[in-house]
Amino acid sequence: MERRGEAGGRVCMSQTVFPAHADHRGELSAGQLLKWMDATACLAAEKHAGVSCVTASMDDIQFEDAARVGQIITIKAKVNRAFKTSMEIELEPIKLLSAQDHLEHTLAIERRRIRLGYEQVFENLMLESNKEDTFEDEDAVSTEFTHVQSIELVQPPHANHHGNTFGGQIMAWMETVASISASRLCHSYPILKSVNMFKFWGPSVVGDRLVFNAIVNNTFQNSVEVGVRVEAYNCEEWIKDQARHINSAFLIFNAVNDKGQLLTFPKIKPTTKDGMRRYRGAVVRRRIQLARKCMLSAKEDKPSDPWERSNQAYMSYSNVATLTHLAAKLGWEITSTLDDVKIWTHEEGDVLSLKVEMQVKIPSRLAFSLLSDFTLCQQWDKHVLSCEVLQAVNEDEKIYYVTSLPVTGDKPRDFVILVSQRQPCKPSEPYVVAVKSVTLTSVPPSPEYCRSEILCAGFEIHSESNSNCKVCYFNQVTSGLMPYLAANLTGSSKAIEDTALECIKFLEREGSKS
Ligand code: ADP
Repeated sequence: MERRGEAGGRVCMSQTVFPAHADHRGELSAGQLLKWMDATACLAAEKHAGVSCVTASMDDIQFEDAARVGQIITIKAKVNRAFKTSMEIELEPIKLLSAQDHLEHTLAIERRRIRLGYEQVFENLMLESNKEDTFEDEDAVSTEFTHVQSIELVQPPHANHHGNTFGGQIMAWMETVASISASRLCHSYPILKSVNMFKFWGPSVVGDRLVFNAIVNNTFQNSVEVGVRVEAYNCEEWIKDQARHINSAFLIFNAVNDKGQLLTFPKIKPTTKDGMRRYRGAVVRRRIQLARKCMLSAKEDKPSDPWERSNQAYMSYSNVATLTHLAAKLGWEITSTLDDVKIWTHEEGDVLSLKVEMQVKIPSRLAFSLLSDFTLCQQWDKHVLSCEVLQAVNEDEKIYYVTSLPVTGDKPRDFVILVSQRQPCKPSEPYVVAVKSVTLTSVPPSPEYCRSEILCAGFEIHSESNSNCKVCYFNQVTSGLMPYLAANLTGSSKAIEDTALECIKFLEREGSKS
């Protein structure tokens, strides 16, 4: 092992993944990774503070790629910001070094704000979701079936030199228990995808018995939330059955089959009042989680490719191909359901995409002709201020100039977009209307507008019958869409549902005229 000190609360640790660190598939176990992450973070904090530190809380952790036996992983930790109260010692403000440091410092403030606001948002959403769920689904599996308990004795190797248990060790134990609980539902090896908001950390020391209780709170198509509560007892408390609550966490797992395809989890039904509350809690946590992801994924928008005659064919192709590719992705998960409108999200790395599915009572061909003419979108999307055709490239390709309401600040936004429309080649294929931003030298950004970019958006229109169709709207989240989606996910707005309902109304109204 190599530990290399760096300037100002930075620590870098490299580790070789040995078989003892890996699971039966030869992949680095999440528990081991959590231990290393915790140790590195702790060392960075100590380097900054000059006294020994223990982990007080952790933000959400997302796991992306797996490391395998024989690979070397490098963990870098850096103190982003020291908060007076959260470290219980007065700390020198950290010297800001570079623009990158400054950005991370600002983000640390934002994350803290989110952390502090979390409880509030959670409570509000819980109140809102307080309608009784019905569990009539006969195939639903009882949650009792997933209850797992385990007890660990804290020994010296699990603790620092003061005898305080390492947070990473507790997380590793939690992961073990939670994955057993999840495996009861998927009958395969669950893969840890994220850890959601550690609720509370009480101290525990060498000699404590830690009792881990885990149960599945809810399932979401391809993922499952397992909650774990950890309680500690010393010898005396053990006899008197006086537990100390150490902490609680919610772990999200996926499961894959031999071919690496995501498995679908069965629906579950809670059997107790607590189970019912946790079932709703899991839905709320998932929404908050997605809203955060949405905020993190909407990075600064890159300027789009310039539109030129020479690359016209390529641009149109990539416009349609990107949308088709996005639509065909596996792993879309439903986040909200009305009668005629369903909202889905898709997460991949740090990219979040949105799908709005609408049931419309008009033939698909008609919906296609109404939706591919963007000059009509003002009739249903109240965010759009104006829309004009800049260039009709050919029958299937048009470039539009669109202005829309401001999102943040008071400047309205403007877009230059390429809209490519495609008829299906086979009856089973959908109609496609693909949208992406292009750069036109003749329409440079102007000071009155905030020039905005669309990376990948559009419609797929599927024929359901002679008089019905399913319209799916797609959008890869950018900073312009982010506030709407984030507000939608945290329940403070219904802008997306409202716009979708307006769109259905518009299509059906126009449809009845023809
Ligand atoms: P909450 O009940 O609000 O979720 P807790 O800290 O009590 O908060 O529990 C965290 C999670 O741990 C629960 O959501 C549940 O999944 C799991 N859990 C708690 N108590 C038990 C228990 N007695 N048996 C099994 N799992 C439990």
